[in-house]
Order: sequence, then structure tokens, then C-alpha cells
Amino acid sequence: MSDYFSNIRKWCDEALRAIKEFLKETSKRNNQKELEKFQEKLITFRDDLNEKQNNLTEKEVYDKAVEIYDEFYKRFSNVSVEDENSNMNIGRSVPIGGHKLPPLPYAYNALEPYIDEETMRLHHDKHHKSYVDGLNKAEMELQRARQTNNFDLVKHWERELAFNGAGHYLHTIFWSVMSPKGGGQPQGRLLQAINHSFGSFDRFKKQFSEAANKVEGGGWTILVWSPRSGRLEILQAEKHQNLSQWDVIPLLALDVWEHAYYLKYKNNRKKYIDNWWNLVNWPEVDKRFNEAQKVRWVPY
Ligand code: MN
Repeated sequence: MSDYFSNIRKWCDEALRAIKEFLKETSKRNNQKELEKFQEKLITFRDDLNEKQNNLTEKEVYDKAVEIYDEFYKRFSNVSVEDENSNMNIGRSVPIGGHKLPPLPYAYNALEPYIDEETMRLHHDKHHKSYVDGLNKAEMELQRARQTNNFDLVKHWERELAFNGAGHYLHTIFWSVMSPKGGGQPQGRLLQAINHSFGSFDRFKKQFSEAANKVEGGGWTILVWSPRSGRLEILQAEKHQNLSQWDVIPLLALDVWEHAYYLKYKNNRKKYIDNWWNLVNWPEVDKRFNEAQKVRWVPY
């Protein structure tokens, strides 16, 4: 079997595994039938790759793979939450230390000539994988710290959590926001929002490119939605973390800049933190949590 065919078959296997786990975790889904139908389609395609490979051209396989890939992501990003108050969302969570490398959503050579096959293999299989491993390790170590109540290394593992978590989440976004059929301009509401936020698509593109070109050292340029300002914004993420994971929504924040406590507590930050717990407005945190739960991505 050609490398190309076997890569696509591997992707089918990964996608099938993801669907199977998904169906297992959410047995009450109302679109279960549709998902099972899609699952069958995927199985047929995979089996064709095995059995009829000599009769299939790369073009045929490519076209079908793109169609299936599109459907896969459409289905999983449109997943609606049936009951906000059930613990279903928890059921869909990634277990602690259980992140997985998502399969590349197209063949390794599918983005050529713009990005070459060798880069994609190295980038996805080695670099992204190492973020996944590092994130799992950090989560396990922090779990151990909670269990043993030993937080001596909390700073180190928080750093690792941010560095590897940002790496994992941003790469997962990166693969999915590229497509062999990509390019052109957005349409509809996204285009309207871009025009509203940046003046025009060309101005957005210019700022995004300039910001990307001027990231110091390693990093990212990221188009973000700000629920607070109700606008899109372009941000640079130097070294991609600075102790955040990016694809997350803040729920509870404690300001530990000196200006927040110095007049009263001087250098006793610990006392300020201990006392601060008397002030936490949990209903508001709960409200933010419930709003945030409406955003759902495919778990990896
Ligand atoms: Mn990278």
C-alpha cells in the first residue's frame, strides 16, 4: 500500500476510535443515529482502501478523504449540549494525564507545495506529540502533589502545564484551521466581524501577517474572539505560553500584583491569599462556568 493510502487509512482508524469513544461516553445523544451512519461511511472508506487499493487513484482517495474529513469536523464541532445541568460535559472530559495526539486531519503531503511532507511528519508526529506527553506528565505530577499535599514543585509543573498545554491546544487548532482546499476569504458573520473589528479583510490580513512576522523568537499569532469587548483581536504569543494555555476560558482570577495587597499586607502575600478566599463570589464564577460550557471542542 502506498504511504499516502496507508496514512489516510491510519487517519480513518483514529477517527473511528474517537467516534467510538464519543458514542460510548454520551449514550443519550439525540444525533446518535446520524453519527452511526457517518461511522459506517468511514468504515466503508477504510475497507475500500484496504481491498480496492489497486483500483483507486490518488485523486479519488483524496477527494473522498477531504469530504469525510469535512464531515468529521462539522459533526464534532456542531455537537450540542443536550442538558446544561447534567454532568454530560464532565463525561466528555479528557481524563487527567489522558490527552492524545489528534490525528492529522489530512495526508502528510496534502498541504504541498506550501508546506512539505517532511515538515508535517516531524511537526505533527514528533513536536506535537512531545507537547502531549509533557502535558500528561505535568497533569499527573500535579495530581500527585494534590494527593500528597506536597507543592514544593508546583511552580515547575505549572510551567510545564502551560508550556505543553499551550503547545498541544494550539497545534490542535493549527492543523484544523488549514486545509488542502483552503485560502480565499471568509464569508458571512465572520467576514462581518472582521470588517467591524479591523476595517476590512485586507487590513486584518496585513496586521495578522505583520504581527506574525514580528513575533520575537518562537511563538504564534492568534486571532481571538473577546466575549468582553464583543470584537475580534489579533495577539502575539511569544514562546506560545507565558504560562497560559490559550484555548481556555478564565473562570476565577486572583490578582497577586503587589499593588493589589501591599498597603495592607506589605510583603505577606500568603496572608492576603488566605484572606481572599473569604471574598470569592462563587455564584458569579458558576455563571461564568455555565456560559463557558457552551463552547465545546472535540476532546483530545
Ligand atoms: Mn509547532
